[in-house]
Amino acid sequence: MNSEFDVISRYFTRPSPNAVLGSGDDAALIACRPGMDWAVSVDALVAGRHFFPDVAPETLGHKALAVNLSDMAAMGATPRWVTLSLTLTEALAQDDAWLKAFSHGFFTLADQYQVELIGGDTTSGPLNISVQIIGEIEKGRALRRSGARPGDDIWVSGFPGEAALALLFLQHRITLTEPEVARCLTALHTPAPRIALGKVLINVAHSAIDISDGLLADLGHILECSGVAAVVELNHIPRSPALTGKLQQENITRQLAIDCLLAGGDDYELCFTAPENKRDAIALLAQQTGVKLSRIGKIVPGKELAVLNDDGNPLIFNRKGYDHFLAR
Ligand code: ADP
Ligand code: MG
Repeated sequence: MNSEFDVISRYFTRPSPNAVLGSGDDAALIACRPGMDWAVSVDALVAGRHFFPDVAPETLGHKALAVNLSDMAAMGATPRWVTLSLTLTEALAQDDAWLKAFSHGFFTLADQYQVELIGGDTTSGPLNISVQIIGEIEKGRALRRSGARPGDDIWVSGFPGEAALALLFLQHRITLTEPEVARCLTALHTPAPRIALGKVLINVAHSAIDISDGLLADLGHILECSGVAAVVELNHIPRSPALTGKLQQENITRQLAIDCLLAGGDDYELCFTAPENKRDAIALLAQQTGVKLSRIGKIVPGKELAVLNDDGNPLIFNRKGYDHFLAR
């Protein structure tokens, strides 16, 4: 039988050379370096709400950390330390294969970004994984949601909509070819946080957010926080190869594909705004980071978010109503 402390010591205790004091005491200690701000964020993943309870534990370990790293990316911060609050069912607490795979997924990603686990909490109950993350950024340089200005270009990284497409596939609402399934499930289960991109964007962007709730919903947060409006062009949003064919159809499949593109959550791409005179610099950053960056619209004065259809006419949509997103 694993006790609480067996679980902690076997699966979640690792050296943390960048902390003053890591796991094992009542609190961890970390030093605040002069000239730096901390970026602090927490995200919970709840079984049945954020993931299927039978999802592979290794991907769950990856994703629990990835969604937090993504918040650091959106601020332009360098992730440094995390704490992990783990609520395990009694069965999972005794399932060594599950615990091993979960911690392997978690630490593999942590190692990739030199992020240290410095503490946490382990309790029993319905499966729930909360990660708190602390990152560092030079004082005053963090990217915020509130910096967008009229005249800014709106940019997005990667191919929004793939994670949502994977979800539709798992719900048997659409079909995908095998390579499309592979691509979209990777986006859903093991998203790649855009840390390197966020760190270079602090030199060019006015505002940024990571896309967790859907492109328009999250762009909407930038607009609200910045007190501006936006015009987005549907045909400028990059189309995943898995979405292209579906968008050419004339039926419910096209509608679902547009929903994925505009409102699909769980992508963890970055949406950011930058002045026009940074276009060349941003093209260079795309090359340097190997991340596709697409210019999808403009920030304008006002309050509304307009999306122009392929024919230049406005799409009618309800930003919050994902199911009835598009009325034609
Ligand atoms: P306390 O009772 O003081 O809150 P705990 O008994 O909950 O301490 O935890 C003991 C130590 O193990 C603490 O240092 C805590 O940070 C660490 N810890 C607990 N759970 C985890 C976990 N899931 N991952 C990493 N460290 C953990
Ligand atoms: Mg505790």
